[in-house]
Amino acid sequence: MSSIMESNPSNPNSQGSNATSSELHQISRLSVIDLGIRALQDAGSEHICKVCIANGGSCCNGCRHLVRGLGCQLRNTSCTAWLCGFLKYLLYETGHLQEWNYFWEQVPGQDYREDFTPEVVFVDNRLSIPSIRELSEALAADLEELARAHIAIGFIITLREKIDKNIDRLDTCRHDVKKQARIKRNIKILSSPFQRFHKALREYQLHGSPSL
Ligand code: SF4
Ligand code: SF4
Repeated sequence: MSSIMESNPSNPNSQGSNATSSELHQISRLSVIDLGIRALQDAGSEHICKVCIANGGSCCNGCRHLVRGLGCQLRNTSCTAWLCGFLKYLLYETGHLQEWNYFWEQVPGQDYREDFTPEVVFVDNRLSIPSIRELSEALAADLEELARAHIAIGFIITLREKIDKNIDRLDTCRHDVKKQARIKRNIKILSSPFQRFHKALREYQLHGSPSL
């Protein structure tokens, strides 16, 4: 884990209203980005990205900070915090989406494809996503198979957007049990073709680690 440094409650007003000053830790902007990238690596996001990009779904498409052969030239808190529908779904099913969202709510200055995050920020919790790489591999394999089976270009990308929209809607109707149930049903239907993923998820929920 990167450097969550000593508690420093000296600037509790700089951001996040949920944290109390006694719990705040000072952390550099670059360390925040490192934490996010490492968490995504532990989650195995690259397996899913590989399939998504091969099917024309890259979220970096058209970005002026993307250099061919070199990748992103502007690491920032915004793009690190942002999750597409597939990654959101992965964290939603494994129970880590709230933790992810809460962590990034503490990081100010996020913008579109760039950030205005101060060089030092204060957070009151760590980002600790366990290794769920096998789950990502399973989801990636499901997506690959779906993309092959559906001739329509962009099938899995449309699916990604639908899942994304439904998971976002869950948050906006937090107090409406009926709506929540309806949206959860939608997510279940949309994700029903993810058979390898669901098998791996059951293993993960039973034993903490899937055996594929
Ligand atoms: S949209 Fe999601 S899966 Fe696709 S490349 Fe971006 S982060 Fe990866
Ligand atoms: S700034 Fe964001 S969208 Fe642009 S290349 Fe970097 S990660 Fe991709």
